[in-house]
Amino acid sequence: MSIALFLDFDGTLVEIAPRPDAVQVDPDLVPVLERLRARLDGALAIVTGRPVEVIDDFLSPARFDVAGLHGVERRVDGVRAGGRPEDHPDLRAEVPRLRAAVAALDAVLIEDKGASVAVHWRLANPEDAARAESAVKAAAAALGADYRLQLGKAVGEIVPASATKAHAIRAFLEAPPYAGRRPVFLGDDRTDELAFGSVNADGGVAVRVGPGETEAARRLADPAAVRDLLRAWADGAPIDPDALPAA
Ligand SMILES: [Mg+2]
Repeated sequence: MSIALFLDFDGTLVEIAPRPDAVQVDPDLVPVLERLRARLDGALAIVTGRPVEVIDDFLSPARFDVAGLHGVERRVDGVRAGGRPEDHPDLRAEVPRLRAAVAALDAVLIEDKGASVAVHWRLANPEDAARAESAVKAAAAALGADYRLQLGKAVGEIVPASATKAHAIRAFLEAPPYAGRRPVFLGDDRTDELAFGSVNADGGVAVRVGPGETEAARRLADPAAVRDLLRAWADGAPIDPDALPAA
């Protein structure tokens, strides 16, 4: 069976950067993804916590299918759904309070994505990092059951409870060119683990990038190894995710 390929962005296709806007995209990445998408008859999508527009900027001038903001928004073949800030009044009201709560902390960044908000503390000292984590946990608790907190690598993000990468992948699989294909998902951190579980349940292949406990059956060492694999697949190597190293 042919595969449908779902790719996380940060830490999977590109190395994690000290600041989210400082990511470096390998010059070969976009042409490789375009060749591989053609080989998969279009069944290739980016599944990320970033907004769709930010992925477009990083991968310009290409326009890939994207599930952004952990699945809050999706774009398939140029058609967008979801992700409007005005659909999230409670979150919009909480963002200024969260901003105020972390304003005095050193090197703590707020990334306001409209329908979700992330607090980054990668560059903060340990005390301020702990305060930043507490602040985002408190904000998530104040918002109640309609939202949930996703903790990643030195980042805490509040997202709508209905939005997950697992939902996003299943939504892609309901329609062409993804329908009827076996899902393969590559991701690197704990926000990807839920989707690994659902991909496993759907008979697909989950691939963890980097170290750490995982639900994935397969593992690649780092984003450079991911790019090598995608280049090989794009250039005609057999696409056999079951042959990847065991996790
Ligand atoms: Mg990632």
